[in-house]
Amino acid sequence: MKAAVLRTIPGDLEITQVEVGEPGPREVLVKTAAAGLCHSDLHFMEGSYPYPTPTVLGHESAGVVEAVGSSVTEFAPGDHVISCLSVFCGHCSYCTEGRPSLCANKGVETVRGMDETPRLTVDGEIAHQFLNLSSFAEKMLVHENALVKIRKDMPLDKAALIGCGVMTGVGAVFRTAKVQPGETVAVIGCGGVGLAAIQGARIAGAGRIIAVDMVESKLEIARQVGATDTVNGSEGDAVAAVVEMTGGGVHHAFEAIGLKVTAEQAFGMLRTGGTATVIGMIPIGVKVEVDGFQFLMEKKIQGSNMGSNQFRTDMPRLVDMYLDGRLMLDEMVSAHIQLEDINEGFDQMKTGSIARNVIMFD
Ligand SMILES: [Zn+2]
Ligand SMILES: [Zn+2]
Repeated sequence: MKAAVLRTIPGDLEITQVEVGEPGPREVLVKTAAAGLCHSDLHFMEGSYPYPTPTVLGHESAGVVEAVGSSVTEFAPGDHVISCLSVFCGHCSYCTEGRPSLCANKGVETVRGMDETPRLTVDGEIAHQFLNLSSFAEKMLVHENALVKIRKDMPLDKAALIGCGVMTGVGAVFRTAKVQPGETVAVIGCGGVGLAAIQGARIAGAGRIIAVDMVESKLEIARQVGATDTVNGSEGDAVAAVVEMTGGGVHHAFEAIGLKVTAEQAFGMLRTGGTATVIGMIPIGVKVEVDGFQFLMEKKIQGSNMGSNQFRTDMPRLVDMYLDGRLMLDEMVSAHIQLEDINEGFDQMKTGSIARNVIMFD
């Protein structure tokens, strides 16, 4: 099958032939229908997070089940599915206390062992599976707990977005921060994840929803999907603007870029008792500094991984919300591209001007 392989870090992706195995007992072979280009892929291509090479990147996808392993009962060929990197074991302490996105066995029992044939090979050697998925490929061979079945009337390109960016942004609002109706929200960064957080805030019934970005076209989309106010961070002090607009700061600030400066800004935008939720991937080793005195005002700063999701529950609900018109996903797809155009797609992402490119497989 055709796949996009990352051989060196930093580096571009090479479209080449990759061999995919047959499903083991608890594995599912999925024909990839659509795969979104996510900023996290870029973090690994640029080397701000380590990963073994060669690897097939991609982790935001939807497709159709082609074959299932002997122990799989949940899925059958023909099922439409969304993949999620939050693959869970179902029995560790995190899974059993209702936090499967933090599963302790993610890279242990949901992957193949070193003594087994790898799921993916390139030129006869192992091609490391990226985040248990590797979606930039015509097929994905994954553990059954990396998938959720969805309605067949859901367009698969929009479903793919739910697989990472949308789940991450909406989940940060619903599950990590638990925004209450009427509370004020600021979202820093209006890429795919930030736009999803804005929508989560709208659906949760937040009061004022303030979008912050440096790119006017992204702020325009933010308004379309639910922001009540916008702040262009290139035109002055965004923190001061948000504090002034809200008469003292917001209940919840979300950081959806992954930078020290914007994480600190999120904390700075809080009212007394407010909570900053950092969604973005801050490079390893970078420290975030806040004024310790502010903790006496019960301000909090917390992380969010993949929106603290319970994706088997959450994703079908998000599909329903799209199909009944509450979750706007059409606005978030910038362009449909071919696998061969993937490097150009990431180049566009680096300019910061687009929301989401989605690869379509025939
Ligand atoms: Zn992602
Ligand atoms: Zn677990």
